[in-house]
Amino acid sequence: MAKLILKNLYKRYENKKGKKGAAQNPYAVNNLNLECEDGEFIGILGPSGCGKTTTLRMIAGLEDITDGEIIIGDTVVNKIQPQDRGIGLAFEDYALYPPLSVYENIAFNMRARKVNDEVIKEEIDRIAPLLKIDDLLQMKPGKLSGGQKQRVNMARAIVRKPKLLLLDEPMSHLDGKMRQVLRTEIKRLHNEIQCTTIIVTHDQMEAMSLVDKIAIMKDGELQQYGTPFEVYDNPVNEFVAGFIGEPPMNIMTVEVQKKEDSFLFKLQDADILIPAPERYYPVLREGMQARLGVRPSDVMIGGTGSKGSDVKISVFENLGDEKKISFRVGEGFLTLITTDEKRYRQGDIVKLEVKSEKTHLFDVNTGEKIL
Ligand code: ATP
Repeated sequence: MAKLILKNLYKRYENKKGKKGAAQNPYAVNNLNLECEDGEFIGILGPSGCGKTTTLRMIAGLEDITDGEIIIGDTVVNKIQPQDRGIGLAFEDYALYPPLSVYENIAFNMRARKVNDEVIKEEIDRIAPLLKIDDLLQMKPGKLSGGQKQRVNMARAIVRKPKLLLLDEPMSHLDGKMRQVLRTEIKRLHNEIQCTTIIVTHDQMEAMSLVDKIAIMKDGELQQYGTPFEVYDNPVNEFVAGFIGEPPMNIMTVEVQKKEDSFLFKLQDADILIPAPERYYPVLREGMQARLGVRPSDVMIGGTGSKGSDVKISVFENLGDEKKISFRVGEGFLTLITTDEKRYRQGDIVKLEVKSEKTHLFDVNTGEKIL
């Protein structure tokens, strides 16, 4: 195991394609700083093209870095060959060699490094039960299910006791149920081998449930780095707020109104008023515009006589234990999640209440958190 530090890391591609119509940003990774402690489990999360895989490939030594330093343990590894970095890799496409048995697939890299047969056997005997593949060792990859192949892939990655384990979408080819099974196994495996691990994933549930800390990237830049609770409860900007959480946080443009000694937020394009919590008062002034975020679980339908605003239900979705109810606000929707047993219907007029203490306030121009 080892600590990992990424220091002012850059990757520039001269031929990098920008989004259609967007200004060209040649940096796939732009001044990334990240520290993972010994034995920590880190997730890198972000939309497609934000630089996750490039970051992992640079750590592994499979991609040159444009600038910056990568430090594993006490060593700057910039100039160290991939095979000498002490890294175990399990990337998305589990390229197992079809003619070789599972045993030989796992042994392959050790044989290439002239490790003797006895040590290879000891290593595989140690790893196979951890990944529950002991019964598969003599089989050929063609006979394995997707989940079994991914576990063999994982075994290959951890077999030489890496200092650092890098997982790039290791469950992307699996269906929902199998993903959950393997997710639990990865968690158990990490607890057992205590190896510093970085996982790249599109799947925020996967990241939230597995890791100690999450790094959220956008356009090559780190947006926030913190525990799953920190990024969920205290997002530093509108991007992170909207990215983490399913259904996503409602984020709406509001105008501040003053009423006697208190402040209210009036939603743009809708007759909905939300009382501002007192902790915002020092930064609020009448007429000011802001972006207000509230998670669907923090919006409620009020009872008779409640102080909420009257709104019409646009969409009602039954999700089993939970119901998702959406209200049209201008061009978009405001959504709530409830476990309320009551049978609401599209078109019903209800009172909408927001847990104002749970709201998040962002700058209307920069999207940065105000308070
Ligand atoms: P995904 O989730 O879709 O795998 P990602 O976050 O892993 O995306 P990267 O694959 O790291 O993103 O790519 C980051 C950016 O760098 C993208 O804009 C991509 O088009 C660009 N890029 C990646 N590899 C190259 C390359 N070899 N040449 C030019 N541009 C590249």
